[in-house]
Amino acid sequence: MHFIHALPLTILVTMSSSGIANTCDTGHLQSPINITTTHKQKLPNLVFDYKSSSLVLANDGHTLRIRINSRSQLKVGKQIYTLSQIHFHTPAGDQVAGEVFPMGAHFLHKSTSGQLLVLVVLFRQGEPNKTFNTLLSNIPKRVGPNQDIPNTSIDIQTLMPTEKSYFRYMGSLTAFPCTEGVEWIILREPITVSIEQLSTYKNTFSDNARAPQSINQRPILESI
Ligand SMILES: [Zn+2]
Repeated sequence: MHFIHALPLTILVTMSSSGIANTCDTGHLQSPINITTTHKQKLPNLVFDYKSSSLVLANDGHTLRIRINSRSQLKVGKQIYTLSQIHFHTPAGDQVAGEVFPMGAHFLHKSTSGQLLVLVVLFRQGEPNKTFNTLLSNIPKRVGPNQDIPNTSIDIQTLMPTEKSYFRYMGSLTAFPCTEGVEWIILREPITVSIEQLSTYKNTFSDNARAPQSINQRPILESI
């Protein structure tokens, strides 16, 4: 996730030099991670009720953000999470068995009780993604707030794999204040983006992924 990238570097430097420990440095449940050893088990199916959404985009200077105004929900067991926004990282941040994915999408959800859940879609280089083309051709030229893209909607499911098996772990925001207790679900099957699409995206946005963090004693669950 992405809150920190807007903070000027000087503020970060001031904070760390003040001697006040912050969770980004001292936390033990930080994201992203390199997923290696997993506990395979029966996990709840992910039940998606994502609606088509009229396209609202923002260029925050560090990522392209899709604002979701439709009532799109993800159900995991009995818990219901509402999707609020999707944004992109290059590279993905989370790795699987050391594989670095050139791009990842973070689908940011919140439950009514305030529990945050990040669902991650990993991208490998390959065939172009049609919906990503729609996004690329509408990147706001100026850094700023949300912009309505007229007469354009997207089907969110086209930014996800068909197969919905997943990894699950307890993590954090990936940027300051690196708050922990965020649920992470990483869809195991990557989808593809073409080298041309990546290159177009990178014409506007620099790499913005946090390095993988220590797993410590966290169990990484894998659905079977
Ligand atoms: Zn993110």
